Amino acid sequence: MNIEKLALFGGPKTITKPFKSYNSIGKEEVEAAREVVESGNLSQFLGSWDPDFFGGPKVKEFEKQCAEYFGVKHAITVNSWTSGLIAAIGAINIEPGDEVILPTWTMCACATAILNWNAIPVFADINPDTYCIDPVSIEANITPYTKAIMAVDIFGQSADMNKIMSIADKYNLKVISDTAQAPGSLYKGKISGTLAHIGGYSLNYHKHIHTGEGGILITNNDIYAERLQLIRNHAEAVVGSKGTENLVNMIGYNFRLGEIESAIGIQQLKKLDSLIKNRQAVAKKINEGLKGLEGLYTPIVQKGSTHTYYVYPMKLDIKKIGIKRSKIIEALEAEGLKGLIGGYTNIHMLPIYQKKIAYGSKGFPWSSDICHREINYSKGICPVAEDLHDETFLGFEMCLHKMSDNEIQSMISAFKKVWININQLR
Ligand SMILES: *Cc1c(COP(=O)(O)O)cnc(C)c1O
Repeated sequence: MNIEKLALFGGPKTITKPFKSYNSIGKEEVEAAREVVESGNLSQFLGSWDPDFFGGPKVKEFEKQCAEYFGVKHAITVNSWTSGLIAAIGAINIEPGDEVILPTWTMCACATAILNWNAIPVFADINPDTYCIDPVSIEANITPYTKAIMAVDIFGQSADMNKIMSIADKYNLKVISDTAQAPGSLYKGKISGTLAHIGGYSLNYHKHIHTGEGGILITNNDIYAERLQLIRNHAEAVVGSKGTENLVNMIGYNFRLGEIESAIGIQQLKKLDSLIKNRQAVAKKINEGLKGLEGLYTPIVQKGSTHTYYVYPMKLDIKKIGIKRSKIIEALEAEGLKGLIGGYTNIHMLPIYQKKIAYGSKGFPWSSDICHREINYSKGICPVAEDLHDETFLGFEMCLHKMSDNEIQSMISAFKKVWININQLR
């Protein structure tokens, strides 16, 4: 490739056609949805102690398929994974003021699910190679008030669950796994999400498989399964007739997934393996194509794991390159990658935590008696995640694009062009 004027400065764009957005919904899903619509039975849930407390036929069938696919005793559908996270925190008998440790490098709902029960999110740092929560930082953040850990399998690979579960054993903590971005990936031969006390997946439109909105909780624990089902469906109205003795957090919601979504989910689940294979093949080609670009690091998959590439994560050695990330992104966007590349979040930097204003205007729960100590959300508490956020992380959105060979090659060419002509950015 030759010296060429970057598109940022008026040169020709590398990618002239936008990448085709990808749609995994096909005629199988259309047929499945049509069948439900024609039956008129769009949801069969009853919020009282009745056989229909557990939902209709498609909900039950989808849950059975999920339990089989993920190899767990219980799969429980919910209307979003955000709902799933809320139910999971409630199910582990959390008390107001209990602390839950989670990575700052994740989606905001992880932390608000904790706040939902008036528990306190405590942010841990991440491993710079996997971007998942760092077990060393977990242990450094444990206090007498810590009750649980929420591990997040970010971008497509599992957090280091063996280490996390052994910390949990040592301190008697519960572990929730947010595997929204890594369904079907493996960790030491086991399916990601299944090693925690409660795990689960998102079925939101942006995720590997979807039903528009939806989520799946998984657990091997009968008691948690029952509590999750209760919180999903108006617990307070049901516990009396059901004879449930443990009334802790038996505040129920309507987190129920409909019959149409479940019918679509059954079809989507059948496609998960091939969707993952596809994405792994694309990532392999991108790895090859980006080899040798100075100061650009392609994803690291930890030993014994597989990656499902919700995001294709890259890192920049800014010192080596000598150009700010924002400038590099601008140049890549101008070449045609607009909307496909970007940074990622640090949840602790959101206004809700920086200003400690959540419920009402007076700083509840942090300012109240239920909070056992001063919680530190200052910049500096998660140096690895902060540096990635501010300076060095570059994510390539993969999940919504199937990517043809032409598209892959043009993406690689855009990177190469910017790298070869990087002096123009100085
Ligand atoms: C998408 C996502 C969620 C939320 O899932 P929804 O189904 O959209 O509510 C939570 N955590 C992570 C890591 C996610 O990527």
